[in-house]
Amino acid sequence: MKRLLSGAARRMARSEALVRPISMAADMLMSERGCLMTFHRGAPAKLWEQLPNRDFYLDTTFLDEFLGYLKRQGWDIVTIEEATHRSKSGRGRFVNFSVDDCYRDTYEDVVPLFRRHNVPVTLFVTTGIPDGTLPLWAAGLEDTLLNKDSVMLEDGAIRVPDFETKQAAFYRIADSWDGRQAAKSYARFCEMNGIDMNAMHWKHAITWEMLEELRNDPLVEIGGHTVTHARISSLSPEGALFELQGCRDRLIERLGIPARHFAFPYGRSGDCGTRDFAIARDAGYASASTTRKGLVLGGQDPYSLPRCTINGSDRSVATMELHLSGMTGLAARMAGRV
Ligand SMILES: [Zn+2]
Repeated sequence: MKRLLSGAARRMARSEALVRPISMAADMLMSERGCLMTFHRGAPAKLWEQLPNRDFYLDTTFLDEFLGYLKRQGWDIVTIEEATHRSKSGRGRFVNFSVDDCYRDTYEDVVPLFRRHNVPVTLFVTTGIPDGTLPLWAAGLEDTLLNKDSVMLEDGAIRVPDFETKQAAFYRIADSWDGRQAAKSYARFCEMNGIDMNAMHWKHAITWEMLEELRNDPLVEIGGHTVTHARISSLSPEGALFELQGCRDRLIERLGIPARHFAFPYGRSGDCGTRDFAIARDAGYASASTTRKGLVLGGQDPYSLPRCTINGSDRSVATMELHLSGMTGLAARMAGRV
């Protein structure tokens, strides 16, 4: 155990030394900046390595190390509420972490980790998840592949005995389901494989009872992330308002909180635009976050906050420093991926 810990500490020290020039250069250019980071699910390293859809999960063993790194480097970890205040005054260096959608692991693994570090975390809840109205087909497909050696598809059974075959099957099946038909395809898959859809949903979904408990935690900030996880720009103005306001109303109704902040699902420029930022304001939110990579600098519009999505491949301080320094935002803009 001792050797393992000292190995991890050595690796951390090595990567900190490697990234020092990047962080020093960014500090010289802008000592005042904020970086909002978002992810969906978290799993400790041992489980993470086995997950067929592991890119969707942050390795929480790494996140644990990274939170320590941020504190040592003098970054303040703040809520979105605080981030929007600071973006007006351009004060200090800050990071926010938001968890989008909200699954059971948000309650079981992610929030306890932030609590151990005594730093806040923001949860953007898709209310269809605790309401049980949004089918979590990707989670159900992944769970089935993880726990079976073979699965039944429309054209026959396939063998998935190891990680490589499970991962390949996940991407192939998920690609073939993606879109409006996903829920229907998933229901058929459950039927063919003897999966209890309701039990599978609650194995992965966060519940209102869990959210009620989290609401009372001073380190947890809860905001909205639509009712059905819709791509907002594709909806009529009424449909968009329903997604934003309906979600906020439901959070107020179930949790009795003002739900001041919102995050767009699919937050790139084609997914949400000027009309949608105005709808966020009309729905009563004080801010709206996108997934356009970049930094929050002084004078930032609170209804189009940039956020960097972090995922399974973000498992080193060097990669994270590219977000903190604004390099990933710059690269995305240069490549036209905004
Ligand atoms: Zn989402």
